[in-house]
Amino acid sequence: MAKSSSPLQLTFVKSATDVRDLPFTQVEVAMVGRSNVGKSSLINALANHRQLAHVSTTPGRTQLLNLFEQPDGPFVMDLPGYGYAKVPDRLRSTWQAMIEGYLLERESLRLIFTLSDGEIGPTKLDVGLLDWVRSHELPIQIVATKLDKVKATKLGARKQELAAACGVTTADVLWVSADKGTGIQEMRALIRRMG
Ligand code: GDP
Repeated sequence: MAKSSSPLQLTFVKSATDVRDLPFTQVEVAMVGRSNVGKSSLINALANHRQLAHVSTTPGRTQLLNLFEQPDGPFVMDLPGYGYAKVPDRLRSTWQAMIEGYLLERESLRLIFTLSDGEIGPTKLDVGLLDWVRSHELPIQIVATKLDKVKATKLGARKQELAAACGVTTADVLWVSADKGTGIQEMRALIRRMG
């Protein structure tokens, strides 16, 4: 059995556009955030794998429900990034339907990691998603990404500000850096605890 903080052994299972096309799973956690929030980098850091989730140079490309499995923990769902400005409204509503359909109908879903950019977040869209998730009483863990981009002198204030804007206390936010590895072991352990 792997240590709770060791890299997640994620293996890609399937991509789908509709939750109904996904295989049955017993326990699952999901990651959601706007395009460019650092979601692919985070998933790669959790797995200690360079190219597991495609780190996109063009945000908005990887617009599918991507399911991963691991031998000693829950399935992991990488949800499509939302809110990329250059995408037409028609496509945007398709993503929204895909994400909302998944979040409401996936019975095995135990925890949703909602990602916000630690340097600039939460954006209006992040707060909109948080409100929506809360209104459906779905379980969340707020994650602030790119910790290394926040200056040490500003970190205390930034933590307060981000938490307040998300409507939680600073203790409720998990701060991570995919680049420096900060918070990655804690997040791995948190994911494994769900399984
Ligand atoms: P995604 O669109 O949410 O999957 O975001 P990506 O993982 O593709 O990251 C978007 C951009 O943010 C890329 O240029 C990454 O190199 C950068 N990035 C992601 N995570 C971090 C981090 O922890 N620290 C820093 N400094 N940059 C990051």
